[in-house]
Amino acid sequence: MTHPDVLVLGGGIIGLAAARELALRGLRVEVVERLPAGAEASLAAAGMLSPFSETISPGPFLDACRASRDLWGPWVATLEEETGLTVDYDTSGSLLVALNEEDEAELDRALRSARELGEQADEMEIPALRHWVPDITPEARRAVHLTGEHRVDNVQLCAVLALAAQKLGVTIHYDSEVERVERRHPEGTVLVHGRHWRKEARLLVLAAGAWSGLIPELPPLPVRPVRGQVLLLGGVEWPWRGSLRQGHFYAVRRGATGLLIGATVEEAGFDKHNTVEGIEDLLAFTRRLFPGIGRTRLETVWAGLRPGTPDDLPLLGGIPGWPVLAATGHFRNGILLAPWTAREVARLAFAEGEEIPELSPRRFLSGS
Ligand SMILES: Cc1cc2nc3c(=O)[nH]c(=O)nc-3n(C[C@H](O)[C@H](O)[C@H](O)COP(=O)(O)OP(=O)(O)OC[C@H]3O[C@@H](n4cnc5c(N)ncnc54)[C@H](O)[C@@H]3O)c2cc1C
Repeated sequence: MTHPDVLVLGGGIIGLAAARELALRGLRVEVVERLPAGAEASLAAAGMLSPFSETISPGPFLDACRASRDLWGPWVATLEEETGLTVDYDTSGSLLVALNEEDEAELDRALRSARELGEQADEMEIPALRHWVPDITPEARRAVHLTGEHRVDNVQLCAVLALAAQKLGVTIHYDSEVERVERRHPEGTVLVHGRHWRKEARLLVLAAGAWSGLIPELPPLPVRPVRGQVLLLGGVEWPWRGSLRQGHFYAVRRGATGLLIGATVEEAGFDKHNTVEGIEDLLAFTRRLFPGIGRTRLETVWAGLRPGTPDDLPLLGGIPGWPVLAATGHFRNGILLAPWTAREVARLAFAEGEEIPELSPRRFLSGS
C-alpha cells in the first residue's frame, strides 16, 4: 500500500483547503472523511465573510480574518480556473440595521472600528435601504453598509474545492472514520487506524471540526460543538445580494432568490436537531425585520455544529510530541478563515517560521 506524505483528517472546508495547498507545494496528500460525502459545519454555514460585524478585538485573530477576506477573491478565481466551475461569491457587503437604541450603539461601534482599520463603512439612508431590501420594516431607524464584508455560497465552494484538490492529485477517502492514531518510533511518523484500513504519514493535519477533541490517543484538544440552526426561504426578489444583520441574527442571500436566516448559538452537545424554540426565534427575527415576508416559501431548515474553543480562537499549530498539525476550532469564522488557514498550514508544514502564539494549541496543552 502506498502512503501519503500528509494525511488530512476531516473533509470540511479547512481540511480540503489545507490538502489543496499542500498538494500545490508538491506533497502527496490524502484526506480521510467519516461521512459518505460532503462535510459537517462547512455545509451548514451561512457563508458570510465578515471580519468586523462579529465583535472581534484587534490582534492576530482580526489580522487573520482581514488577511483571509483579502485572499477570497483571488482564491475563488483560481479555483474556478482549476475546475471550470463557478462559485457564487459576492462582494456587495453587509448591511447592519438598527431598530432600537441598543442596535444603534452596535452600529456606531461597527462604524468606528471599521473606520479605525481603514475599512469603508457608510451610513445608508432609509430610502436607499428600502430600495435594496423592499421588505425592510418601517421600524428601521438607521443602516450602515460595510463594504469589506463579502459572501460565498459555501456549499458550492466546498464541492469546487474538493474537485480542485483532486485535480492536484489529492485522494479523498469518504466513509473513512479515523478510530485512533499512533506515533511510530523511531520512524517519527503517524499511523492512522480506521475500521478496515491503516495509513502511515509523515504528518497528520487534524481538521475534524467540532470532533477534533475526540480522536483517541491524541492529547484532547478543548474543542466543543456549538449548535447553529438555520432556515432557508425561497422566492425573495430583492436587489440586495449581500447579507444583513440586526441584533444577534442575520439574513444572507443564497442562490437567485433564496434568503438564509440564521443562526442560533447553542450549547447542546453533539445534538444536530432543529428545535421548535430555535426555529421560532429565527422566524420571529424574520417577521420583525421583514414584516411583509409572511407568505414567502419556507424551503427547509437545518443545523450544524461549530467547532468552539474556550477563548473562541482557532487552534493552529503543532501538537507537542506528535507529527500532527491542528487546524481546527474556527468557531464562527471557519469559512472566512479557510484560505488563510490553508496557507498557514503549508507554512508550518514546511517549517517556515514560528506559530502564532495566540492561536497555537500549546496555550491549552499543559506541560508543553
Ligand atoms: C449555522 C452555522 C452558520 C455558520 N456561518 C458561518 C459564516 O457565515 N461564516 C463563517 O466564516 N463561518 C460560519 N460558520 C462556521 C463554519 O461553518 C465553521 O467554522 C467551519 O465550517 C469549520 O470547518 P471545518 O472544516 O473545521 O469543520 P467541518 O466542516 O465540521 O469538517 C470537519 C469534518 O471532519 C470530519 N470528521 C470528524 N471526525 C472524524 C473522524 N474521526 N474521522 C474522519 N472524519 C472525521 C467530519 O465528518 C467533518 O466533515 C457557521 C457554522 C454554523 C453551524
